Amino acid sequence: MAAAEPDTDQLSSPGSEFLNFSAKDTASRWLAAADLQQEVYRHLAAYVPRILCLGPSSSGGSSREGQREEQREEQREELAYQLLLLAPLEWLLLREEPAAGLAQLQENNRPSPLCGHVFKVGEPTYSCRECAADPTCVLCMQCFLGSVHKEHRYRMTTSGGGGFCDCGDAEAWKRGPYCQKHTPTDRHTEEDPVAQLPADMVARGYSIFSIILKYAVDLLTCDQEEQLPAGLEPPERGDTYYCMLFNDEVHTYEQVIYTLQKAVNCSQKEAVSFATMVDRDGRKSVRYGDFQFCDQAKSVIVRNTSRQSKPLRVQVMHSSVVAHQCFALKALSWMGQIIQYSDGLRRILCQVGLQNGPEGENSSLVDRLMLNDSKMWKGARNIYHQLLMNSLLMDLKYKKIFAIQFAKNYRRLQTDFMEDDHERVVSVTSLSVQLFTVPTMARMLMVEQNLMTTIIRTFVDHLRHRDLQGRFQFDRYTAQQAFKFGRVQSLIGDLKYVLITRPSEWTNQLRLKFLEGLDAFLDLLKCMQGMDPVVRQVGQHIEMEPEWEAAFTLQMKLTHIISMIQEWCSTDEHVLIDAYRKCLSALSQCHCGLPDGEQPISLSLAGHTVDTFRYQVSQDKVSIHLPVCRLLAGLHVLLSRTELSSRVPEQLPLGELSPPLLIELPLRCLVLCAQVHAGMWRRNGFSLINQAGASMMDPNHFLMIVLSRFELFNIFNSADVRKRYREANKDVVQQNNTLIEEMLHLIIMVVGERYVAGVGQVEPFDEVRREIIHQLSIRPMAHSELVKALPENGNKETGLEGVIDIVASFKKPGVTGRGLYELRPEWNKNFNLYFHHYSRADQSKAEEAQRKLRRQKGEDTALPPPLPPPLCPLFGSLVNLLQCDVLLSVEGAVLQWAVESSGGGWTESMLQRVLHLVAMSLLEEQQQLENNRDDDVTFNYTYKITREAPSPSGSVLALLETLQKAPQLEVHKDMITWIIKMVANIKTMREQTASTSTVSVCPGHGAEETVRDRDKAERKRKAEMARLRREKIMAQMSEMQKHFINENKELFQQSLEELEASTSAAAETSATGLGPTCVTQVCVGPRRVGRAEHRQLVTCILCQEEQEVRGHSRAMVLAAFVQRSTVLSKNRRHIVPDPERQEPLFMHPDLSLGIHTASCGHIMHAICWQRYFEAVQLKEQRRQQRLRGHTSYDVENGEFLCPLCECLSNTVIPLLPHSPDHRCTHSLSLPVSVNHPTLEAWLNTTNQQIATLHSAHRKQSDGTAEEAEPAGEAEPAAPEGFRVDFTPQSPFSSSIREMITTFSVSTYKVGLKLNPNEQDPRVPVLSWSTCAYTIQSIERLLMEEEKPLFGSLPCRQDDCLSSLTRFSSACWTVAPLKTVHTHFIRLFTALFPDSQVENTPCILDTDMFHLLVYSVLSYSSVQSLDQSGCSVVDSAHLHLLHLVTVAHLVQILLTSTTEEVCMDQDSEGSEEEILTCQLYNTLRKHLGSVLPQVSSGWQLWRCVKAGILPFLRATALFFHYLNSTAPPADLLVAGPGHWEALCSFLSLPSNLLQVHQNQHTLLEPLIYRWCCHPGVRQTLQGGGVIVRFPRESNRLIELPEDYSVLINQASSFTCPRSGGDKSRAPTLCLVCGSMLCSQSYCCQTEVEGEDVGACTAHTFTCGAGVGLFLRVRESQVLFVAGKTKGSFYPPPYLDDYGETDQGLKRGNPLHLCQERYRKIERLWRQHGIAEVIGHAQEANQTLVAIDWQHL
Ligand SMILES: [Zn+2]
Ligand SMILES: [Zn+2]
Ligand SMILES: [Zn+2]
Ligand SMILES: [Zn+2]
Ligand SMILES: [Zn+2]
Ligand SMILES: [Zn+2]
Ligand SMILES: [Zn+2]
Repeated sequence: MAAAEPDTDQLSSPGSEFLNFSAKDTASRWLAAADLQQEVYRHLAAYVPRILCLGPSSSGGSSREGQREEQREEQREELAYQLLLLAPLEWLLLREEPAAGLAQLQENNRPSPLCGHVFKVGEPTYSCRECAADPTCVLCMQCFLGSVHKEHRYRMTTSGGGGFCDCGDAEAWKRGPYCQKHTPTDRHTEEDPVAQLPADMVARGYSIFSIILKYAVDLLTCDQEEQLPAGLEPPERGDTYYCMLFNDEVHTYEQVIYTLQKAVNCSQKEAVSFATMVDRDGRKSVRYGDFQFCDQAKSVIVRNTSRQSKPLRVQVMHSSVVAHQCFALKALSWMGQIIQYSDGLRRILCQVGLQNGPEGENSSLVDRLMLNDSKMWKGARNIYHQLLMNSLLMDLKYKKIFAIQFAKNYRRLQTDFMEDDHERVVSVTSLSVQLFTVPTMARMLMVEQNLMTTIIRTFVDHLRHRDLQGRFQFDRYTAQQAFKFGRVQSLIGDLKYVLITRPSEWTNQLRLKFLEGLDAFLDLLKCMQGMDPVVRQVGQHIEMEPEWEAAFTLQMKLTHIISMIQEWCSTDEHVLIDAYRKCLSALSQCHCGLPDGEQPISLSLAGHTVDTFRYQVSQDKVSIHLPVCRLLAGLHVLLSRTELSSRVPEQLPLGELSPPLLIELPLRCLVLCAQVHAGMWRRNGFSLINQAGASMMDPNHFLMIVLSRFELFNIFNSADVRKRYREANKDVVQQNNTLIEEMLHLIIMVVGERYVAGVGQVEPFDEVRREIIHQLSIRPMAHSELVKALPENGNKETGLEGVIDIVASFKKPGVTGRGLYELRPEWNKNFNLYFHHYSRADQSKAEEAQRKLRRQKGEDTALPPPLPPPLCPLFGSLVNLLQCDVLLSVEGAVLQWAVESSGGGWTESMLQRVLHLVAMSLLEEQQQLENNRDDDVTFNYTYKITREAPSPSGSVLALLETLQKAPQLEVHKDMITWIIKMVANIKTMREQTASTSTVSVCPGHGAEETVRDRDKAERKRKAEMARLRREKIMAQMSEMQKHFINENKELFQQSLEELEASTSAAAETSATGLGPTCVTQVCVGPRRVGRAEHRQLVTCILCQEEQEVRGHSRAMVLAAFVQRSTVLSKNRRHIVPDPERQEPLFMHPDLSLGIHTASCGHIMHAICWQRYFEAVQLKEQRRQQRLRGHTSYDVENGEFLCPLCECLSNTVIPLLPHSPDHRCTHSLSLPVSVNHPTLEAWLNTTNQQIATLHSAHRKQSDGTAEEAEPAGEAEPAAPEGFRVDFTPQSPFSSSIREMITTFSVSTYKVGLKLNPNEQDPRVPVLSWSTCAYTIQSIERLLMEEEKPLFGSLPCRQDDCLSSLTRFSSACWTVAPLKTVHTHFIRLFTALFPDSQVENTPCILDTDMFHLLVYSVLSYSSVQSLDQSGCSVVDSAHLHLLHLVTVAHLVQILLTSTTEEVCMDQDSEGSEEEILTCQLYNTLRKHLGSVLPQVSSGWQLWRCVKAGILPFLRATALFFHYLNSTAPPADLLVAGPGHWEALCSFLSLPSNLLQVHQNQHTLLEPLIYRWCCHPGVRQTLQGGGVIVRFPRESNRLIELPEDYSVLINQASSFTCPRSGGDKSRAPTLCLVCGSMLCSQSYCCQTEVEGEDVGACTAHTFTCGAGVGLFLRVRESQVLFVAGKTKGSFYPPPYLDDYGETDQGLKRGNPLHLCQERYRKIERLWRQHGIAEVIGHAQEANQTLVAIDWQHL
């Protein structure tokens, strides 16, 4: 706050006053005044309207100039209110220079240990899963890193804004509440911080804060558009108004933008900026002027938006009102800052804010703000919420007082929120999380303000629609009501906060209020019990229809609350008993009148009789919403768990409700579910209620009622009905079968589900373990899948981590896929086929998997139930269900049907369930025998099934024995065998205990013998069957495969990756097959070794015809994709010049933009391809006519998918025969040196040829009619045999020529982004360019991956390079000769400078490999005119190579040394070093001091060797493909020692400097001329980009190991366009590291006439249209190609379980996986991004519809 020297020019209106103004004097004057408020108001009234809101800045708009102007305006404004308005206030408070005073305050402050850092949107927050009191307790990154929790299991999320760091709050953390920074020291005291301030400052603080806070509150809460509060009227009032537009959540961005353009006559850009501001701040002035002017705009806006919905809110406000409101916000922020310096001042502000006003109760300033919250605009709310957080919530004393006020106003605030249409984050109600989650606070509010009851009653009040019985009715909701229903649900969230931590201690008051709350809650549940009843219609399936959803959502949300209430009850006996009573009476109220009108009947079966009433689910109404029953069941289990029922049975009203009534409704519901095949609701714990009911009833009675409700009673009761039923029509039979299955399932659940603490004797731990075992029995699963499958508690914990390692082993993920947990084999025996959380699908999958597992291990496939845990006493009688007569009769009946087998009256799953029940009974008996003395064992199932005969065919056992032999029951045979064995065992046990009365007995062996033998035979038979089956399958498979191959399908599904991996077998065999060991392989020059001519046969993938590749036959082509590339760029700032004027003949060594060609290697006839492409075009036309769908490729731009592998392509490369040999055939045996001219001779000839061409060209351009050439220039003598007028014969058929042109033009079109133009002389250059660039980029790839130069490329790349090189060597044949000649001449001049040719770039601005390729390829055209027969093109190639090599050496030497290296090497240098030094000194001679002096030849030679290596490697690749020379053996393997092999392959001496040395005299003048080019000196002196060699390969940017670092980085990233605003979708470019503000209007840019998002715009400069990004908030990689294509890709960040977290939903800590990142990098380097996008879009059509260009 230093007193800055004000700039008078910029302060126009209050200029002179400003200079004379003294804040100190003003403050003193105020202090002396009698009425301070009056003085301050007078000052504000005078200054505020003159400083703030002076109308829009002059130029406005979004032009850069306009933006700068606006910024200057803002700065001016800020300076003014700082010095004129705030400074006097600060002086007044501090009585000294503010900066010093504040520092002093801070010094004396003893801050509370609370961190209180308020989170920005997108900032990372951390919560400890082990220590946090609840999941809302979070730490900021700084505190987290300094806390103990970073070693714990933690969760990381990004903040949605609002909320603050809980570091230092002892209640929020079970352990480690303080980070290092916030650990309390002895400086902290409990004493009142106000007492530490000087008394006079306290007094001044009170008065200033009250004046300013009141001022702000008055202004923000007043409804006036015209009038200001008393005392603030401006001295003079002009006719200046604002037209203020307010935000709402009803209108879309587009609507607002459209309306604004109409109403205020602004450009689209301005409208967008207005709309963005309105959305961000909640309001924005869109027009400034006199009243009429503004009012006019208002009416247009209102008129335009009122048609569909309520109109946009617009106000015409006087400028002074706006100015004061604006300052009010600044004043609030100012106070928020001041109190950061002193806890004392903070407390004073709190006191001022909460002091009751003149109206008494609820009239404090804070109350007024809260109660007006929903009327304020977003920006204002945000600022005052922030102030509340900085003040009231940071002061523990006032936090409480505030909480009480908040609770008092709760109902009113929530009602306002319902009417408000803003999101909850900007509502004051969202502060509830800060208050209610503090356990002591929540309890205090419950006791003092009856908070629990208030919340529930408020909630119920907002759901008004009821049916006649007073139950909620959602199906009649209007859209408006549905919207409100969405909002009212936040109240359940509040209730959850209040209940989240159960009390450790109860007071009487708390009991009282909790039970009162429970009453309210039960009232709520009563409104839900039985809501939305349905009548089943035959054949109808229950689906989630809209009106079901609301009821369902409610039930789901309340499930958590119900379990929390149960937890509270579990901690206090009195509460539990009272709650149980209340719940019971609520249930009886719901049930009163239940059996009304239903006839009583009496049922009897198996000798038992029960009275009930007639009721048919299939005809009457049933509801699935029974929350009261659920609560009661839960409490019942608690009674069992706490053993209260046995200790104080007299206090429990257990006899009050009849068990049949208890089970009635849930049973109906289950039957309904069974009838409609909806297994899903079984999970909802209705079996628990049935368990409670059944445990209190006679088992026979219970079962009879069940049978009756399932409408199955008669089937089991009378043989007649049974018979009739089996003869009934198919539908009825099938339906009844399903019902029997479901009924049996229910019995299995009721008896068998014991994994709830209280029902069975288990710990919660056992429950989780069982859950995991059963999930993993289906298949191995990833961590997140398991978490999803497990129920979460209120803390969002599943308990998974405590158990998982015991039952499962972890398999790490590879580069793709994710980590998986696999069940350890020893847990397989715990598998229960009828696990209650299995859906039908799960069940059959698990059954399949388990049987397979057992077969693999050679075991039998019986899946008997596992041993169940013992029941708790209260539920103990449940086991009697298993041996009761009714069940036995049911079992007998089903088995009997199975025996009779004819007719469809039974099903296998029915039988399977019965077998399961039998097995459960046997296990029960066995367990009882093992644990008790024989005479205590009441359970005697074996006796009953052996002796009693429920059916005509004999006992249950007899039936089972019959079934064992039945051939049709193969699958169940093992299970039946298991049962019979078990019966035998139990018999032995009983006999043994009876005879000897010994203790435990292991399963006997005697009786087992025969069983075992039978087993063996059985298994053998099965093995044989399995073998036969396998053979049959194998035969089928091989048949299928043949078919498959015929159709060429096997390549179809092969992914990109696999293609990469399948290394070119062909290349390897051909290379090694030639046996290159004895002959030194040379690929260039007269001594090169050609490959034996061999016929190349290829097959067209479209017509399957085979054809030889020959120059004169029909053209064959390869599908190819040409794209611009910046992968090798060393200069990303390079600006692409206007394509019309681009001069591509010389490639700059920064390789800033290249053209890359790739191919999938699939070959077609040109004609077949053309037909195919025409068909694609036609299809596209038809598609466009029909509907506006999308395709993944752009047909208009020539794109198509390879018909075989669907690889994205946009052109084709013609296949050419290898070198239509320029050499005589005998050159295979090489006696040629005669024909090889020396460099000097060749240069002479070439110069002569060039001169001849020159003059010929001149003649041509002068026109033939023109007379003789100008005098003075003699006609140069043409070399012998060189005929300028000769037209060489094309060696190719017309169809091949056509394809050559096609590909040339494609490279031209893509490379220059121009429309095709065959005549453009640049066409051949671009063809050569893509050849050179592609070779260079592949050379880099091989180098980076340390693969050998030859033989390691995948087929498709090998084929691609080979055809690409052959094509480019032939493309001159379709271009005008003169054009190619001119190119050659210019290229040659770069090496052999000629003053006649202009615009030759200097040696430092030329990429030598490109130069070599271009000149070699263009030379053919010159050579073709030579008819002398004595020149050989190979010699020319070698000379060109030598020349370029020397040029490159010079280039490297010029750029390699930057600083003097003082490494004094031994003087004795090798020959190379000496020669290098010589050359370097020559260069210094020419260039002088521009080059530093270097004494070490060793150093230089090292630089040269490393620098030139990539060039030599690329050159070797080039000549290898050009001349089809087999590579030498040394280069087929990776490793060192390649230098010699490489040099000799290229016919170069291994001491490269000899190339220079040998032709010293000839080259010396050349070198001199290279160095003299003015560009060289200029560049070296810093006038241009210096590229050094070797050019380092580009990599993707380094990413941090810990993902939260990125999140943090992104959270502080602000949108570069809208001054300091947080970006919503910060996105990181992985290529250059720029952070972008993506997916937002603010950062759209125009590219090629279209508005595109920041990412797309960035790709055009950074990646030539292709981009890779990391969307930081989403943890997702984004690939973009062009404007229309994109896809998402899994991020390289994994959690500890080997999974990615796309969307950051789970919050596990994420760490960088290097392998995956390298994989993405490789994709990029291979130019595979576009292809990956293509494949992704083909696989997922929804990706095609995304507007990628807006990202
Ligand atoms: Zn913190
Ligand atoms: Zn901290
Ligand atoms: Zn912790
Ligand atoms: Zn064909
Ligand atoms: Zn293909
Ligand atoms: Zn932006
Ligand atoms: Zn970039």
